[in-house]
Amino acid sequence: MQVSRHWRLQQQRYALVGQVCTDCEEKIFPPRGVCPNCAKETDAQFEFSGRGKVYSFSTVYTAPAGFEGSAPYTIGLVQLEEGPLITAQLTDIDNDHVEIGLDVEMVTRKLLQDGDRGVLVYGYKFRPVVPVWELEPEDALFALA
Ligand SMILES: [Zn+2]
Repeated sequence: MQVSRHWRLQQQRYALVGQVCTDCEEKIFPPRGVCPNCAKETDAQFEFSGRGKVYSFSTVYTAPAGFEGSAPYTIGLVQLEEGPLITAQLTDIDNDHVEIGLDVEMVTRKLLQDGDRGVLVYGYKFRPVVPVWELEPEDALFALA
């Protein structure tokens, strides 16, 4: 069981791979083999751009076991360019700066380290496409225009 779960994470480590319905072209994430739109079966892979917008978010102050070191952190519901909603941790941004509609892109980050075996588990997070507060004032105005 553990092996297959880690294998699946490996598969999605560098790209956000879901499926596309061969009938109605609905983009599907996470992969589930059945189109949520028309209920047809599909096994066609689709690689998402990894870009999207923050649809809603919530800041977590008390982290679950294994994530204590990273609290507080913000979990976003991200709407991908291609449509599906995906839940993931937001990174490279102050929790106070997160807002609905923020443009974000997927990055691969270390999620946790298994203390007993030293196994690193990676997963995807989303970060702002343009961290405006790190730019020079003129450039920041340009980025916001
Ligand atoms: Zn479909």
